[in-house]
Amino acid sequence: MEVLLARENGFCFGVKKAVELTEAAAESGRPVFNLGQVVHNPKISERLAARGVKVIKDPAEAETGIVVIRAHGVPPAVRASIEEHGLECIDATCSLVLRAQRFTKQLADEGYRVIILGTPEHPEVVGLVGFAGPDHTIVETKAEWERLPKMRKAGVVSQSTQPPWAFKELVSHVAEISQEMKVFNTVCPVTIKRQNAAAELAGETDVILVVGGKNSANTRELVNLARMQGKTAYHIEHSTELERSWLEGKERVGLIGGCSTPMETLLEVKERAEALAG
Ligand code: SF4
Repeated sequence: MEVLLARENGFCFGVKKAVELTEAAAESGRPVFNLGQVVHNPKISERLAARGVKVIKDPAEAETGIVVIRAHGVPPAVRASIEEHGLECIDATCSLVLRAQRFTKQLADEGYRVIILGTPEHPEVVGLVGFAGPDHTIVETKAEWERLPKMRKAGVVSQSTQPPWAFKELVSHVAEISQEMKVFNTVCPVTIKRQNAAAELAGETDVILVVGGKNSANTRELVNLARMQGKTAYHIEHSTELERSWLEGKERVGLIGGCSTPMETLLEVKERAEALAG
């Protein structure tokens, strides 16, 4: 059996920066807090915890020290709350998410009803909502956007990890039900590349192993994509979850990680898959 690694793997630049900034803050010797898991990856969370970094849900939980805002960003009120509590703030929001936040605010300021394509409870979407003002709607599925009412001014943005085809379909639907529409394509090009690599890999292999946090939106998209191509795809976080039966009788196994999956985790999975098949 051969294990083929996707041509796109490892951390994206946004995740890399967030992890590096958190590690650098931990070096200072002061208490360091991540507002939510810095990236959706259990291995990285363990590594940061070993350096004394604590995960908090609210700035009020930190008495003193440094709060690092993760790559997904936060609503403006949360940013203000960090400062109100007298804490130092390191903003590791990915530059592409900052761009999406700016566009969302611009749409709200210009009087557009903001339509956000995304998962309502995902932290990045929670952050965008903070910039969208009260006149916004979050849609995640076709059934949801087909229920949108007719609008005078509609502005469309997306959570960075949404699939491009969904964004395209939403935009074409909103064009039909609005008098005026403004669109900012905020789908992340790095995740598009990763999705293309997953599709390519699915075409070349018998089964796909997708490695990443179970709560990682971009990792789950890779699983969906492989399954949409009719391939069996397994979503795992650690090499220990691999089962021999998944590999039996397979000639080529594809391996891809989400944007927050370190290369070392992928290589561990590769090694274990080869050992199980061997
Ligand atoms: S997936 Fe894209 S938007 Fe998200 S952190 Fe990485 S580069 Fe930034």
